[in-house]
Amino acid sequence: MDLSGRVAVVTGGGRGIGAATAQRLAQAGAAVAVADLDQGPADEVAAAIRASGGRAVGVACDVTSRPSVEALTDRAVADFGRLDLLVTCAGLTRDNLLFRMTDEDWDLVIDTHLKGTFYACRAAQKHMVAAKYGKMVLISSTSALGNRGQANYSTAKAGLQGLARTLAIELGPFNINVNAVAPGFIETRMTRATAERVGVDFDKMKEDAAARTPLRRVGQPEDVANVIAFLCSEQSSFVTGQVVYVAGGPRG
Ligand code: NDP
Repeated sequence: MDLSGRVAVVTGGGRGIGAATAQRLAQAGAAVAVADLDQGPADEVAAAIRASGGRAVGVACDVTSRPSVEALTDRAVADFGRLDLLVTCAGLTRDNLLFRMTDEDWDLVIDTHLKGTFYACRAAQKHMVAAKYGKMVLISSTSALGNRGQANYSTAKAGLQGLARTLAIELGPFNINVNAVAPGFIETRMTRATAERVGVDFDKMKEDAAARTPLRRVGQPEDVANVIAFLCSEQSSFVTGQVVYVAGGPRG
């Protein structure tokens, strides 16, 4: 995959799937604005990309803040001259059964995933429509199919699939592809934190997840990053409005 000359914004790029994606896109030749809630992790990933000969800048960005997201896309254009690729990985969980789920848990998860992605897509389309070129990849989850204790997260992740399909229809005439990637169990800080929260040993949790998965293993951030890179490339230029499950099986 050749992404040389392309410029990417990756939200949640400081850790996990976002960090692997930023590195994968840079490896394929894209300049990357690596954004994360905190400057530190974003800077670390950007520095690692630069150390390998790539182009990257770390940007602090809270995706729940419209001005912060708009400043991020403007920064990518200011630093690298254009914006071609948007990957929205910023995310968190606040799991609880419905009767224990607070308004705050609901709002934070919906605002981070759904509103944050909406802000990022709207800010990016301005540049992409003008250039008549763009690729957006939104990160959904197998939880979109339903998952106990995740009413907020499942709703947001299902909503992102609707957003991807709708934006594919609206932005297709401007040569902009919009797809969603829905990972299953991926070994990151997010899944490690889930294990800690429910009091299960992480290795045991991985073993159980692998046993339930047809490919008999859990995923790594690079498994997801490779598919995202494909959807950011010309190899997938006639694919839009799709949800690609990266889950080791149909449900993960
Ligand atoms: P990580 O926790 O490793 O990375 C998520 C990143 O998003 C963190 O750096 C986090 O920052 C950042 N973030 C959280 N809130 C905001 C915000 N408001 N603005 C900007 N950045 C923010 O998780 P993963 O890599 O596992 O998750 C990446 C995406 O993949 C998420 O959307 C997640 O829902 C999705 N996903 C993950 C799966 C998995 O099994 N791991 C499965 C399916 C989907 P901080 O650390 O400071 O909170």
